[in-house]
Amino acid sequence: MPELPEVEIIKQGLEKKIIGLKIQKIQVLSPKSFIGNPKLAMGQTVLKVWRRAKILGMDLDKVTLLFHMKMSGQLIWKGESGKGKGERFIGGHPTPDMVDKMPNPHTRVIFTFSDGSHLYFNDQRKFGWIKISDGPLQDLGPEPLEKGFTWQILKQNLLRHKSMPVKVAVMDQSVVAGVGNIYANEACFVAKIDPRRKVADLTDQEFKSLHRGVIRSLREGIKYGGSTRVHFVDPEGRKGYFLDYAKVYGKEGYPCQGCPSKVKKITIGGRGTYFCPDCQR
Ligand SMILES: [Zn+2]
Repeated sequence: MPELPEVEIIKQGLEKKIIGLKIQKIQVLSPKSFIGNPKLAMGQTVLKVWRRAKILGMDLDKVTLLFHMKMSGQLIWKGESGKGKGERFIGGHPTPDMVDKMPNPHTRVIFTFSDGSHLYFNDQRKFGWIKISDGPLQDLGPEPLEKGFTWQILKQNLLRHKSMPVKVAVMDQSVVAGVGNIYANEACFVAKIDPRRKVADLTDQEFKSLHRGVIRSLREGIKYGGSTRVHFVDPEGRKGYFLDYAKVYGKEGYPCQGCPSKVKKITIGGRGTYFCPDCQR
Protein backbone atom coordinates (compact mmCIF):
# COMPACT_ATOMS: atom_id res chain seq x y z
CA MET A 1 0.00 0.00 0.00
CA PRO A 2 1.45 3.39 -0.94
CA GLU A 3 2.39 5.28 2.23
CA LEU A 4 3.61 8.82 2.88
CA PRO A 5 6.94 8.50 1.02
CA GLU A 6 5.32 6.97 -2.07
CA VAL A 7 2.67 9.70 -2.23
CA GLU A 8 5.32 12.39 -1.65
CA ILE A 9 7.27 11.02 -4.61
CA ILE A 10 4.15 11.11 -6.81
CA LYS A 11 3.59 14.72 -5.73
CA GLN A 12 7.16 15.73 -6.53
CA GLY A 13 7.02 14.00 -9.91
CA LEU A 14 3.61 15.31 -10.96
CA GLU A 15 4.24 18.91 -10.03
CA LYS A 16 7.05 19.02 -12.58
CA LYS A 17 4.71 17.74 -15.28
CA ILE A 18 1.25 19.23 -14.90
CA ILE A 19 1.34 22.59 -13.13
CA GLY A 20 -0.02 25.26 -15.47
CA LEU A 21 -1.75 22.74 -17.73
CA LYS A 22 -5.49 22.74 -18.30
CA ILE A 23 -7.55 19.61 -17.75
CA GLN A 24 -9.22 19.09 -21.11
CA LYS A 25 -11.02 15.88 -20.46
CA ILE A 26 -11.74 13.42 -17.66
CA GLN A 27 -12.91 9.95 -18.66
CA VAL A 28 -14.34 7.97 -15.78
CA LEU A 29 -14.22 4.28 -16.72
CA SER A 30 -15.24 3.08 -13.25
CA PRO A 31 -17.86 5.27 -11.53
CA LYS A 32 -16.83 3.89 -8.12
CA SER A 33 -13.36 5.40 -8.55
CA PHE A 34 -14.50 9.01 -9.03
CA ILE A 35 -16.67 10.73 -6.44
CA GLY A 36 -18.44 13.88 -7.61
CA ASN A 37 -19.10 15.37 -11.02
CA PRO A 38 -15.96 15.34 -13.20
CA LYS A 39 -17.37 18.22 -15.28
CA LEU A 40 -16.66 20.53 -12.33
CA ALA A 41 -12.93 20.03 -12.93
CA MET A 42 -12.84 20.13 -16.72
CA GLY A 43 -11.41 23.20 -18.41
CA GLN A 44 -9.59 24.23 -15.23
CA THR A 45 -5.86 24.83 -14.80
CA VAL A 46 -3.71 22.91 -12.32
CA LEU A 47 -2.37 25.51 -9.89
CA LYS A 48 -0.76 23.34 -7.25
CA VAL A 49 -0.07 19.71 -6.38
CA TRP A 50 0.25 18.88 -2.68
CA ARG A 51 0.27 16.02 -0.20
CA ARG A 52 -1.32 15.65 3.24
CA ALA A 53 -0.75 12.29 4.94
CA LYS A 54 -1.35 9.74 2.16
CA ILE A 55 -3.70 11.99 0.23
CA LEU A 56 -2.59 13.72 -2.95
CA GLY A 57 -4.31 17.02 -3.72
CA MET A 58 -4.56 18.97 -6.95
CA ASP A 59 -5.73 22.58 -6.63
CA LEU A 60 -7.51 23.81 -9.77
CA ASP A 61 -8.95 27.27 -10.48
CA LYS A 62 -12.21 26.62 -8.67
CA VAL A 63 -12.11 23.15 -7.09
CA THR A 64 -9.61 20.71 -5.58
CA LEU A 65 -9.19 17.11 -6.62
CA LEU A 66 -8.18 14.58 -3.97
CA PHE A 67 -6.57 11.23 -4.75
CA HIS A 68 -6.24 8.25 -2.42
CA MET A 69 -4.34 5.20 -3.68
CA LYS A 70 -5.52 2.81 -0.91
CA MET A 71 -4.28 -0.77 -1.51
CA SER A 72 -3.55 -0.91 -5.22
CA GLY A 73 -3.83 2.58 -6.72
CA GLN A 74 -1.22 3.93 -9.09
CA LEU A 75 -0.81 7.10 -11.13
CA ILE A 76 0.93 7.12 -14.47
CA TRP A 77 1.61 10.32 -16.36
CA LYS A 78 2.54 9.98 -20.01
CA GLY A 79 3.81 12.78 -22.21
CA GLU A 80 2.47 12.85 -25.75
CA SER A 81 3.96 15.95 -27.37
CA GLY A 82 6.88 18.36 -27.43
CA LYS A 83 9.62 17.96 -24.87
CA GLY A 84 7.66 15.43 -22.81
CA LYS A 85 6.84 13.08 -25.69
CA GLY A 86 7.43 9.49 -24.74
CA GLU A 87 8.21 10.35 -21.12
CA ARG A 88 6.47 8.57 -18.32
CA PHE A 89 6.24 9.22 -14.62
CA ILE A 90 4.88 6.44 -12.45
CA GLY A 91 4.03 6.13 -8.80
CA GLY A 92 1.95 4.20 -6.33
CA HIS A 93 1.37 0.49 -5.93
CA PRO A 94 3.95 -1.30 -8.07
CA THR A 95 2.97 -3.76 -10.78
CA PRO A 96 5.00 -4.90 -13.78
CA ASP A 97 2.37 -3.57 -16.20
CA MET A 98 2.88 0.05 -15.05
CA VAL A 99 5.47 0.41 -17.77
CA ASP A 100 3.34 -1.16 -20.51
CA LYS A 101 0.62 0.14 -22.76
CA MET A 102 -1.90 2.60 -21.26
CA PRO A 103 -4.78 2.48 -20.63
CA ASN A 104 -4.84 -1.10 -19.35
CA PRO A 105 -7.65 -3.23 -17.88
CA HIS A 106 -7.06 -1.65 -14.45
CA THR A 107 -7.36 1.94 -15.67
CA ARG A 108 -10.29 3.60 -13.87
CA VAL A 109 -9.93 7.29 -14.75
CA ILE A 110 -8.06 9.08 -17.55
CA PHE A 111 -7.18 12.79 -17.49
CA THR A 112 -6.19 14.55 -20.69
CA PHE A 113 -4.24 17.80 -20.31
CA SER A 114 -3.90 20.76 -22.66
CA ASP A 115 -0.50 19.60 -23.95
CA GLY A 116 -1.97 16.22 -24.93
CA SER A 117 -0.40 14.38 -21.99
CA HIS A 118 -2.42 11.88 -20.00
CA LEU A 119 -2.69 10.90 -16.37
CA TYR A 120 -3.98 7.37 -15.77
CA PHE A 121 -5.43 6.34 -12.43
CA ASN A 122 -5.14 2.55 -12.28
CA ASP A 123 -6.51 0.53 -9.40
CA GLN A 124 -6.79 -3.22 -9.56
CA ARG A 125 -8.83 -3.64 -6.37
CA LYS A 126 -10.91 -0.46 -6.69
CA PHE A 127 -10.56 0.72 -3.08
CA GLY A 128 -8.80 3.89 -4.18
CA TRP A 129 -10.64 7.02 -5.19
CA ILE A 130 -10.50 10.47 -6.71
CA LYS A 131 -12.92 13.06 -5.46
CA ILE A 132 -13.91 16.64 -5.90
CA SER A 133 -13.16 18.16 -2.54
CA ASP A 134 -16.04 19.59 -0.60
CA GLY A 135 -14.36 20.75 2.60
CA PRO A 136 -11.53 20.08 5.00
CA LEU A 137 -9.82 16.69 5.12
CA GLN A 138 -10.74 14.05 7.70
CA ASP A 139 -9.34 14.34 11.19
CA LEU A 140 -5.63 13.87 10.56
CA GLY A 141 -2.76 14.07 13.00
CA PRO A 142 0.39 16.17 12.49
CA GLU A 143 2.54 15.85 9.38
CA PRO A 144 5.60 13.92 10.58
CA LEU A 145 8.10 15.78 8.40
CA GLU A 146 6.98 19.25 9.43
CA LYS A 147 8.40 21.32 12.29
CA GLY A 148 5.31 21.15 14.49
CA PHE A 149 5.73 17.40 14.97
CA THR A 150 7.59 17.05 18.28
CA TRP A 151 8.14 13.98 20.43
CA GLN A 152 5.83 15.48 23.05
CA ILE A 153 3.00 15.70 20.52
CA LEU A 154 3.63 12.14 19.43
CA LYS A 155 3.56 11.03 23.06
CA GLN A 156 0.36 12.94 23.80
CA ASN A 157 -1.41 11.50 20.75
CA LEU A 158 -0.20 7.96 21.36
CA LEU A 159 -1.41 8.09 24.96
CA ARG A 160 -4.97 8.18 23.63
CA HIS A 161 -4.35 4.48 22.99
CA LYS A 162 -2.68 3.47 26.25
CA SER A 163 -3.40 -0.26 26.05
CA MET A 164 -2.64 -0.68 22.33
CA PRO A 165 0.58 -2.19 21.01
CA VAL A 166 2.80 0.72 20.04
CA LYS A 167 3.06 -0.36 16.42
CA VAL A 168 -0.73 -0.41 15.98
CA ALA A 169 -1.14 2.97 17.72
CA VAL A 170 1.45 4.72 15.55
CA MET A 171 -0.50 3.68 12.44
CA ASP A 172 -3.61 5.56 13.61
CA GLN A 173 -3.80 8.48 11.17
CA SER A 174 -5.02 10.85 13.88
CA VAL A 175 -1.86 10.16 15.93
CA VAL A 176 0.54 10.99 13.10
CA ALA A 177 -0.47 11.38 9.47
CA GLY A 178 0.81 9.05 6.78
CA VAL A 179 2.52 6.22 8.69
CA GLY A 180 1.32 2.81 7.55
CA ASN A 181 2.53 -0.73 8.06
CA ILE A 182 5.92 -0.52 6.32
CA TYR A 183 7.15 2.59 8.11
CA ALA A 184 5.63 1.61 11.47
CA ASN A 185 7.78 -1.54 11.38
CA GLU A 186 10.85 0.45 10.41
CA ALA A 187 10.25 3.14 13.04
CA CYS A 188 9.99 0.57 15.86
CA PHE A 189 13.25 -1.01 14.72
CA VAL A 190 15.09 2.32 14.60
CA ALA A 191 13.69 3.11 18.07
CA LYS A 192 14.70 -0.37 19.35
CA ILE A 193 11.19 -0.86 20.71
CA ASP A 194 9.39 -4.20 20.62
CA PRO A 195 6.29 -3.49 18.45
CA ARG A 196 4.09 -5.48 20.88
CA ARG A 197 4.78 -3.18 23.85
CA LYS A 198 1.81 -1.27 25.24
CA VAL A 199 1.88 2.49 24.72
CA ALA A 200 1.38 3.10 28.45
CA ASP A 201 4.65 1.28 29.25
CA LEU A 202 6.92 3.49 27.16
CA THR A 203 9.35 5.86 28.86
CA ASP A 204 9.95 9.43 27.68
CA GLN A 205 13.27 8.25 26.28
CA GLU A 206 11.40 5.67 24.22
CA PHE A 207 8.85 8.20 22.95
CA LYS A 208 11.81 10.31 21.83
CA SER A 209 13.40 7.34 20.07
CA LEU A 210 10.13 6.45 18.37
CA HIS A 211 9.70 10.04 17.19
CA ARG A 212 13.19 9.91 15.69
CA GLY A 213 12.42 6.48 14.20
CA VAL A 214 9.27 7.70 12.45
CA ILE A 215 11.05 10.67 10.89
CA ARG A 216 14.16 8.75 9.91
CA SER A 217 12.33 5.88 8.25
CA LEU A 218 10.03 8.19 6.27
CA ARG A 219 13.00 10.31 5.11
CA GLU A 220 14.83 7.19 3.99
CA GLY A 221 11.69 6.04 2.20
CA ILE A 222 11.61 9.25 0.20
CA LYS A 223 15.36 9.17 -0.41
CA TYR A 224 15.25 5.66 -1.85
CA GLY A 225 12.21 6.27 -3.99
CA GLY A 226 9.56 4.68 -1.83
CA SER A 227 8.41 1.09 -2.05
CA THR A 228 7.25 1.30 -5.66
CA ARG A 229 9.51 -1.35 -7.01
CA VAL A 230 9.60 -1.87 -10.74
CA HIS A 231 12.42 -2.36 -13.17
CA PHE A 232 12.13 1.06 -14.59
CA VAL A 233 13.87 4.39 -14.33
CA ASP A 234 11.68 7.45 -14.57
CA PRO A 235 12.61 10.59 -16.54
CA GLU A 236 14.44 11.94 -13.50
CA GLY A 237 16.51 8.75 -13.34
CA ARG A 238 14.97 7.65 -10.06
CA LYS A 239 14.26 4.07 -9.16
CA GLY A 240 11.88 2.91 -6.47
CA TYR A 241 13.93 0.52 -4.38
CA PHE A 242 13.25 1.44 -0.75
CA LEU A 243 12.34 -2.11 0.12
CA ASP A 244 15.92 -3.13 -0.67
CA TYR A 245 17.03 -0.68 2.00
CA ALA A 246 14.33 -1.48 4.55
CA LYS A 247 15.83 -2.63 7.82
CA VAL A 248 13.18 -5.15 8.88
CA TYR A 249 10.09 -4.86 6.65
CA GLY A 250 9.87 -7.92 4.41
CA LYS A 251 13.17 -9.28 5.81
CA GLU A 252 11.93 -12.30 7.73
CA GLY A 253 14.80 -14.73 8.33
CA TYR A 254 17.43 -12.24 7.16
CA PRO A 255 20.21 -11.19 9.53
CA CYS A 256 19.39 -8.18 11.70
CA GLN A 257 21.41 -5.06 10.82
CA GLY A 258 22.19 -4.43 14.47
CA CYS A 259 23.10 -7.85 15.92
CA PRO A 260 23.67 -11.51 14.93
CA SER A 261 19.95 -12.44 15.34
CA LYS A 262 17.49 -13.01 12.52
CA VAL A 263 14.49 -10.79 11.77
CA LYS A 264 11.26 -12.38 12.94
CA LYS A 265 7.76 -12.02 11.51
CA ILE A 266 4.59 -12.08 13.60
CA THR A 267 1.07 -10.69 13.16
CA ILE A 268 -0.20 -7.79 15.26
CA GLY A 269 -3.63 -6.30 14.63
CA GLY A 270 -3.90 -8.40 11.49
CA ARG A 271 -0.77 -6.93 9.88
CA GLY A 272 2.60 -8.50 9.16
CA THR A 273 5.05 -7.26 11.77
CA TYR A 274 8.82 -7.60 11.41
CA PHE A 275 11.27 -7.03 14.23
CA CYS A 276 14.49 -8.16 15.86
CA PRO A 277 13.72 -9.97 19.12
CA ASP A 278 17.12 -9.00 20.50
CA CYS A 279 17.54 -5.34 19.46
CA GLN A 280 13.91 -4.40 20.13
CA ARG A 281 12.95 -4.57 23.77
ZN1 LIG B 1 19.05 -7.24 16.22
